[in-house]
Amino acid sequence: MTARILNGTELGQQIRAELRQQVEELKQAGVTPGLAAVLVGENPASRIYVRNKIRACEELGLYSERLTPPATTTTAELLALIDDLNRRPEIDGILVQLPLPAQVDTQRVLQAVDPAKDVDGFHPMNVGALVANRPALRPCTPAGVMELLARNGIALKGARAVVIGRSDIVGKPLALLLLHQHATVTVCHSRTRDLPGVAREADILVAAMGKTAFVTPDFVRPGATVIDVGINRLEDAATAEKLFARHPQRLEEFRKKGSALVGDVHPDVVEVAGALTPVPGGVGPLTIALLMANTVQAARQRRGAVSRVEAVH
Ligand code: NAD
Repeated sequence: MTARILNGTELGQQIRAELRQQVEELKQAGVTPGLAAVLVGENPASRIYVRNKIRACEELGLYSERLTPPATTTTAELLALIDDLNRRPEIDGILVQLPLPAQVDTQRVLQAVDPAKDVDGFHPMNVGALVANRPALRPCTPAGVMELLARNGIALKGARAVVIGRSDIVGKPLALLLLHQHATVTVCHSRTRDLPGVAREADILVAAMGKTAFVTPDFVRPGATVIDVGINRLEDAATAEKLFARHPQRLEEFRKKGSALVGDVHPDVVEVAGALTPVPGGVGPLTIALLMANTVQAARQRRGAVSRVEAVH
């Protein structure tokens, strides 16, 4: 069996096209949704993530702003900056790119963001709303995975879902979203006993652990849907030769570039799974699309734009 590939790049483009329409309507009603991205210090990966998010805003016609306090910034200085963004009416979404430098109290900073502008869904109030299945801004990566499952017609009601990883950003919120869609959910982590055995029970298996190609074919029940959230940069040639032994095209790409992005799922899983998200081009593009969707949603809710937009039709 060769898995159906769940293409996140195409789906991300489709979602953005739908959003473009909504942004156009909002603009006609006098509202330009605005996103502020706070990037502290010089972390190269964070810089790329923020650049991609700002670019996505620009493509959609949103207002965007990048704030770049230095790596030496204190908690108090960041709190003052967040306070200013909370007060500015043209800013609908505030995104604080993680990780923050060690001297900053990350939880205090995340709690300072106005929950109505919390487009990452990390504020305790939004986390509480997620637990209770009340409407609120949802974390982007888990929300993107749910969109991918829904739009590919993957049934969740009564299905066995196994999520490997229990982070506040991915594993835990995704487990809750799957539960709210009536899946029977198991959350696994670094202390789980017989991880491959538990994973093999899954109709839907999610890998969100940050461990290169950890989920090998023996973790996967034949025909299961496998969602690979992991993004790991592979630079070791010997590992690449082994991982891509049965994937000559990927090996060729690795040899040309000297590196490759690899998920938490082993490439050979494609031979066992029924459906699989690729890395790159799976969950990643949906995270950004859902960030844009959250910004538009925040703008509608904050500025009471829903009725004005409906009036346009
Ligand atoms: P994290 O480090 O905060 O959490 C990892 C989780 O995996 C932990 O709960 C840990 O218990 C579990 N884990 C670690 N080793 C394990 C093992 N050997 N067996 C079982 N469980 C184990 O990571 P995170 O922020 O949740 O991110 C996870 C991965 O997803 C990373 O590769 C990250 O780069 C990626 N990610 C991708 C996107 C995206 O847009 N596609 C967004 C966020 C994170």
